[in-house]
Amino acid sequence: MNEVLSPPGQLHQRRVRMMLWVAAVLMMGIGVGWAAFFFARGAWIIVVVEVTMAVLGVVVAWLTQQRRTRMAFFVMLATVYSSICAFGLVFDIPDAQVPRSTHHFILVLALSAMLVLRDEAAWMRHSVVGLLFVSYVALSSTTWGLQTQYLIPHEVRITGTWVNTALAMLGLYALVHIMVTEVAESSALEVEMRKGIVRDEFFLLCQPQLTHEGEVLGAEALLRWRHPKMGLVAPGEFIDMAEQTGLILPLGAWVLRHACTQLVTWSQVPELAHLSLSVNVSARQFRQSDFVGQVQAVLERTGANPQRLKLELTESMLVEDMDDIVHKMESLRALGVVCSLDDFGTGYSSLTYLKKLPLDQLKIDQSFVRDVLSDPNDAAIAQTIITLGKSLGFAVVAEGVETPGQRDFLVTHGCHIFQGYLFSKPLPLPEFVAFVRTNGGRKSPPDAAAA
Ligand code: C2E
Ligand code: MG
Ligand code: MG
Repeated sequence: MNEVLSPPGQLHQRRVRMMLWVAAVLMMGIGVGWAAFFFARGAWIIVVVEVTMAVLGVVVAWLTQQRRTRMAFFVMLATVYSSICAFGLVFDIPDAQVPRSTHHFILVLALSAMLVLRDEAAWMRHSVVGLLFVSYVALSSTTWGLQTQYLIPHEVRITGTWVNTALAMLGLYALVHIMVTEVAESSALEVEMRKGIVRDEFFLLCQPQLTHEGEVLGAEALLRWRHPKMGLVAPGEFIDMAEQTGLILPLGAWVLRHACTQLVTWSQVPELAHLSLSVNVSARQFRQSDFVGQVQAVLERTGANPQRLKLELTESMLVEDMDDIVHKMESLRALGVVCSLDDFGTGYSSLTYLKKLPLDQLKIDQSFVRDVLSDPNDAAIAQTIITLGKSLGFAVVAEGVETPGQRDFLVTHGCHIFQGYLFSKPLPLPEFVAFVRTNGGRKSPPDAAAA
């Protein structure tokens, strides 16, 4: 576990940036080198092309430095791919003695695309890698080429073949090494998570949920992991892994238990007794056949008021066995637990599903809230979700509210419950309690259902 000193997601990003730096330097070096070579031969068109490649190398370096790695990668990909194809078809045409070799770099590009685009949509990853492989096969299996005056002399191509093939193999070796390391890191992460659960390294932050009048209705419990070497790890770094390995089950049970214990503690303090606590439930957790029984057992063991517990489900879990989901949600509601649909608008829930689901609350995904003032489509989607939620009788919560302008837009269109950095970041428990105290107590009778 020595290599994992920071979360794998961050390590991955660092490696991607490093790879882009190397690519940028190579683009500049190769561009200037070939420009000089063809300058000496008076081949001006090629000099211009090579200088363009060097300039684009500078652009890639700048974008990488600005941390715009996705854009940097696509600029690099387009430049290098078109250069390899042009080079392979104009200068590096195979003959009876010397095979083509420039195209071997396409394999390096394909592997780097698999690495950099690993979190992109599958169609994007597969189409980029597919195009690269098809080009590789075509350039390997044919003697295609344009016979021009620029064909590189035979003696140069003999050396070039050795150099190109060796460099491409070196590139492949480095990229495979990175990929193997990333696989090893993710199993190391799993081991660390198991230890983390035993060593009690996980804890909850509370992010306030408020009305437009500033009344704090409750909070969302957000999981964090304080690792002795990696430091503070956000859920984005480990929830997927926990879901894949099944560790989400003990972790989710721990979150539920802590949330209920917290509700009991608050219930004993008059000014906090009205607060609700939302808990995120992952698909795998919810799919357990005895999930409702587990919730019931925790509620009974802790003595928490079920009406103060909200379970946040996501649309992605609605794709399988709708009847089972509806049945479980009905059972949870029969216990008094509140059901909320998180990140609404990003998944696949059809209106028929929405009508069937025994929900209490919809949370508009923060991606729509973010651009509600600048993107008319997002504004229209947010408005539609608010109208839809209200007409189906659900409370509508907007998350990711960061500016007064976003809040005002949402209020104008009928959304009155908010969560976001405008009000507060997720807070440790004592700070959350202080936040509730300084932001005023409740303004409605204690028994009215919160949100
Ligand atoms: P979520 O449930 O949609 O939680 C909201 C996320 O948005 C949180 O990120 C929160 O810190 C962030 N957020 C809130 N307001 C703002 C804002 O104004 N601007 C921006 N940029 N972000 C804001 P966090 O804590 O990193 O959690 C990410 C996701 O991890 C959560 O998304 C949830 O899906 C998952 N998660 C967190 N805790 C748990 C847990 O206990 N169990 C499960 N299964 N998933 C969890
Ligand atoms: Mg949530
Ligand atoms: Mg959300």
